[in-house]
Amino acid sequence: MNLQHDRSAWLHGPPSVCQAQPVHPRQCRRLVLLGAPGVGKGTQAAFLSATFGSCHLSTGDVFRTARQCGRENSSPALKDALTRMNRGELVTDETVLEIIRERTTCLACRGGFVLDGFPRTVPQADVLDAHLGYEGMVLDAIISYELPLPELVIRIGGRRTCPVCKAVYHVDSRPPRTPGACDTCGSKLIVREDDQPDAVLVRQEAYQRNTAPLLEYYAKRKLLVHVDAQGTPEEVFARTITALGDKR
Ligand code: AMP
Repeated sequence: MNLQHDRSAWLHGPPSVCQAQPVHPRQCRRLVLLGAPGVGKGTQAAFLSATFGSCHLSTGDVFRTARQCGRENSSPALKDALTRMNRGELVTDETVLEIIRERTTCLACRGGFVLDGFPRTVPQADVLDAHLGYEGMVLDAIISYELPLPELVIRIGGRRTCPVCKAVYHVDSRPPRTPGACDTCGSKLIVREDDQPDAVLVRQEAYQRNTAPLLEYYAKRKLLVHVDAQGTPEEVFARTITALGDKR
């Protein structure tokens, strides 16, 4: 698929317009990634996106982009969202769904999508369902990445992120070629504020309370595939492709 990944429509919302040209809609996938914070959803989303041409849609990246562009004070809802995010709490459904409503063209894209971080609650999943139903689209699979808690904490502790192109590294298992600098765009890598130890515990708790119930929600529809997230990103990706099988 000759899809130019152009996430500005997703990251910035309107009036940014997507320039991507999906040329092989038959190949496209509509996937949702689930898994506790630190499990590696962002890394796998990037691999899946490169393989299937479907755009990587991360709600966390939307909030981080808003902060980076200095939009904290543009609305009380966004300010509240970024405060909650720093503490490791979930942003309210109301604000998340407002962000999604502004970006429904991304969800209706003929090139498909890899949703990373949305839905995170049952009400969010209901809205996604309703939207896809309206567009006459279906999800191909929901991939649940699974890893024991101690391993999750180690992964988050070593995570480094590019604030510009959002690439994700790990100091031990996926170091950048030049320490501290992004391989893709050269920007200085950072530790996300919500990767600090206090916020990490809050995030794990929020996942168990709000997002884990989605496993049952999607299992009932026979769309759920489980993937063991131990090992290198490449090993996990190979497992993902096997688990997806002919789901589409
Ligand atoms: P992520 O990059 O997916 O780990 O998201 C980072 C943070 O953004 C989360 O810890 C939440 O504070 C917020 N966030 C992202 N997506 C959602 C969502 N769908 N629902 C609620 N909060 C979200």
